[in-house]
Amino acid sequence: MPKYVYDFTEGNKDLKDLLGGKGANLAEMTNLGLPVPPGFTITTEACRHYLEHGGVPDGLDTEIADQLARLEERMGKRLGQADDPLLVSVRSGAKFSMPGMMETVLNIGLNDESVQGLARQSGNERFAWDSYRRLIQMFGKTVLGIEGDLFEDALEAVKAAKGTEDDLDLDAGDLQKLVGTYKEIVRAHAGREFPGDPREQMDLAVKAVFDSWNAPRAVLYRRQERIPVDLGTAVNVCAMVFGNLGMDSGTGVAFTRDPGSGQQGVYGDYLSNAQGEDVVAGIRNTMPLQELESIDAPSYARLMEIMEILENHYRDLCDIEFTIERGKLWMLQTRVGKRTAGAAFRIAMQLADQGLIDLDEAVMRVTGGQLAQLMFPRFDDSAATRQIAKGMNASPGAAVGKVVFSSARAKELADRGEDVILVRRETNPDDLVGMIAAQGILTSRGGKTSHAAVVARGMGKTCVCGAEDLDVDVEAGRFTTHEGLVVAEGEVVSIDGSTGAVYLGEVPVVPSAVVEYFEGSGDLSDDLVQAVHRIMERADSVRRLGVRANADNAEDAARARRFGGQGIGLCRTEHMFLGDRRQLVEDLILAESAGERQAALDALEPLQRSDFIEIFTAMDGLPVTIRLIDPPLHEFLPNLTELSVKVALAGDDADPKDLRLLAAVKRLHEQNPMLGLRGVRLGLVIPGLFAMQVRAIAEAVVARRAAGGDPRAEIMIPLVGAVQELEAVRDEAVAILRANGIGPDGESPVLIGTMIEVPRAALTAGQIAEAAEFFSFGTNDLTQMTWGFSRDDVEASFFSRYLELGVFGVSPFESLDRDGVGRLVRIAAEEGRKTRPDLKLGICGEHGGDPDSVHFCHETGLDYVSCSPFRIPVARLEAGRAALTCGDSDTR
Ligand code: PEP
Ligand code: MG
Repeated sequence: MPKYVYDFTEGNKDLKDLLGGKGANLAEMTNLGLPVPPGFTITTEACRHYLEHGGVPDGLDTEIADQLARLEERMGKRLGQADDPLLVSVRSGAKFSMPGMMETVLNIGLNDESVQGLARQSGNERFAWDSYRRLIQMFGKTVLGIEGDLFEDALEAVKAAKGTEDDLDLDAGDLQKLVGTYKEIVRAHAGREFPGDPREQMDLAVKAVFDSWNAPRAVLYRRQERIPVDLGTAVNVCAMVFGNLGMDSGTGVAFTRDPGSGQQGVYGDYLSNAQGEDVVAGIRNTMPLQELESIDAPSYARLMEIMEILENHYRDLCDIEFTIERGKLWMLQTRVGKRTAGAAFRIAMQLADQGLIDLDEAVMRVTGGQLAQLMFPRFDDSAATRQIAKGMNASPGAAVGKVVFSSARAKELADRGEDVILVRRETNPDDLVGMIAAQGILTSRGGKTSHAAVVARGMGKTCVCGAEDLDVDVEAGRFTTHEGLVVAEGEVVSIDGSTGAVYLGEVPVVPSAVVEYFEGSGDLSDDLVQAVHRIMERADSVRRLGVRANADNAEDAARARRFGGQGIGLCRTEHMFLGDRRQLVEDLILAESAGERQAALDALEPLQRSDFIEIFTAMDGLPVTIRLIDPPLHEFLPNLTELSVKVALAGDDADPKDLRLLAAVKRLHEQNPMLGLRGVRLGLVIPGLFAMQVRAIAEAVVARRAAGGDPRAEIMIPLVGAVQELEAVRDEAVAILRANGIGPDGESPVLIGTMIEVPRAALTAGQIAEAAEFFSFGTNDLTQMTWGFSRDDVEASFFSRYLELGVFGVSPFESLDRDGVGRLVRIAAEEGRKTRPDLKLGICGEHGGDPDSVHFCHETGLDYVSCSPFRIPVARLEAGRAALTCGDSDTR
């Protein structure tokens, strides 16, 4: 039978799958000899069993009883013992941290008798009643599912009756009364008494933690953070230590480095005479951690010492929760802390410079997603702006939007395509929907460790918190600045998560320093730019995958090159037929004789040729894969309905050209254009079309060579499903190339290859490779055809439902579906190379710039990925990380 319960002395930090992050790290700290209150962890396996079968596994009760007995023996008191109770906390802790998403119940073991014992033992009656009312409040909300506001409102009422806003002004009598009120709330809303039996309290709390895995906000958070749905949570049962025993006690959170900027120093918040979630909930304003030194120097010194031990041990930024109970410091939690993108890069290089990690590990410590965030624009410092408040720079970025005061409203406006800033006094886990919908989050209370700050940083969302000058009136839908300016819902503000500044109106944005660096004009004395530079250099030196760009013009090609692109993997030629050139395509379609058709093609060819010359110039010496025209021709013609209306309204006076056009539009109309006359099918059906394009390429190559350039053209045929299609096009293309002296068998030949984007092509890749010198996986079409849903239609119609149902965790158009589409890619790569060992393999669908898909491409042995120019740095970094992950980097 599996073991479901582990004492803290039995685990270690590598057992996160089984013990959750919190449990594994509590065990690690216990084994490091740090002051952790004793306790035990119930495994995620027990949770999974409970969720699957609707009940706890056999043997769990006995195991818990045994562990509890050991704990009681060690502490010298029994759970809930009337004269001197052992109290415990029951806290969730999944493998991945899900801040505030799941439940915690503190002070378990209190009842009408043991509260008296606790009061006597502690010599502090107020503390005992405060602990008891907290238990009923947390238990009522979490375990019995009672609306939390009912308890909050009752607390507010007691404070109001006392004429105070501070819970510290309530005395033992007030809190005892509150306990009575809370019990009535429980009776009225849960239909049962608050359970006085300590073991029952514990068992119910454990189950509530298990259940909270499937609470809607936890589900939403997991989806947002791409955390698998079936991990389950562990439960940590820990002897209570008390931060609410008086002013010599308190609770706090600390970071070993600033999670916002990465700077070394002391960062955190402390709250005297408080317990548990008070710090993060923003209930009272906290004090900066440094001030603890003047209140309790020995505890502060010990904390600093422990923080150093932890950082050296974990070799990373740690965040810590601690409690001081009457001058004694206790560690309640640590983990490798979340950080902003900028902090991640800076910290990785700091640790490498300190010798704690090597450069390869520094590369592994950052992600493409974080790099992408650093490439967002920032506010223009020189713009005329009106700063109306200043808060804490909790999560960087520049966000502009209309202010809204509720999550529901944020979602509503965002669904309409509007940018919003969610403004709250403080956020709680129920605000998650609004936080996801908003461009940025602004709060008037709470520090850098408040819920808003932690969650926003995790999501990479801009956040300014603790802007205390703002008086936020959620009910009235407005906030007032200390100068008396009123900003109502719908007005635009700009918030700067890097400085904490809040501006009225829309502030213009400028490119990020990191983008300037990639553009070649960056400031290497900036420590962030320097960190990015060094990490990118290392990633480039270890990666095996090439990175190319999807670019259709010289400007994009030049940017791609500056960004480190090693060629063009996809030049979509149809983009060259838009604007005034659309008319020429129209002429081609309407041509009624071979002569008219040739005239239209002749008009198009020089335009194509000059486009290619420009692109070859920008990419001189690097490969340029040019894809022949792909989309259905109706895309170049007017809309059927609009044209029908125009012709109908004109009646007998209709323009004859419109009539011909309408006939063509009707002829080319398709029920499923994505599966219709497009790609290679067009090339085979419309005489001269592909030939014109190939000729333009050939002539451009010849012209560039004559000018001393080094053009490296690759001709790519789209939508091939059978080798015969490719052969037919290939024969014609080879003849044209040969006629220009650049056949595939000459020196620096022009390669001819195909996209693999139709499932049949993947399944017959061994045959197709006979006629192709390269494959480029068009995973946009391959995804749509493998799943059988149209990329243009489904994202809006049913994807959100599919994500909810867990059919997929992320859109397969965003991140490559490894099991289905990925399988086709693997088959094609393998069988293609069997036929032609030197077959070049790349990918040019949107997935080429997606971090997880880049890893897939590395694992599958592709030669390169191709993505939009802006995503090239992300792909370079992830290609390096993939090589390091697989242990087959180029330098090894
Ligand atoms: C593809 O299908 O992945 C592709 C790159 O082609 P397009 O998106 O132009 O159809
Ligand atoms: Mg395609």
